[in-house]
Amino acid sequence: MQRPGEFRVSVTKDYLVFASAHFITFAGHRCEGLHGHNYRVRVTVEGALDEESWFVFDFVVLKKIMRRLCDEIDHKVLLPLENPKIQLSEDGDALRVAYEGKPRYVFPKVDCALLPVANTTVEMLAELLTKRLRSELDAIGARGLTAIEMEVEENFGQSAVYRLSL
Ligand SMILES: [Zn+2]
Repeated sequence: MQRPGEFRVSVTKDYLVFASAHFITFAGHRCEGLHGHNYRVRVTVEGALDEESWFVFDFVVLKKIMRRLCDEIDHKVLLPLENPKIQLSEDGDALRVAYEGKPRYVFPKVDCALLPVANTTVEMLAELLTKRLRSELDAIGARGLTAIEMEVEENFGQSAVYRLSL
């Protein structure tokens, strides 16, 4: 049956957080010092009602996927793989980080999350989590979804939202 209006469902839970370290680069030659945030995630999916269960998407499944995606980058140093100003090199169990060719940090490799982004801004993290969620949804054959919206907050009242139409 065709219904007027649209539905979307959101999840934001105490465990949809990741406490991680990062630093970002700015235009020109400025680079932040290493610091951390208690990042918080809210995800919204939009779509048609499932004809048998009368929901857009199963909350339990959505929460489980998002929890895993957050856990993967929790308690890590988030490092960008696609930032031309940041050079990463492996040295045994260590990861050396240089900024514009100058040595800056050395981290234990196991404590780092190397992310396919240009900068670890909340915008890029929101986009990355959206892509990861999308491939999880594709893998389980989720149907009827029309959009994903991902909000990543790095501080109270300071967040970015990425929206992807499917
Ligand atoms: Zn920051």
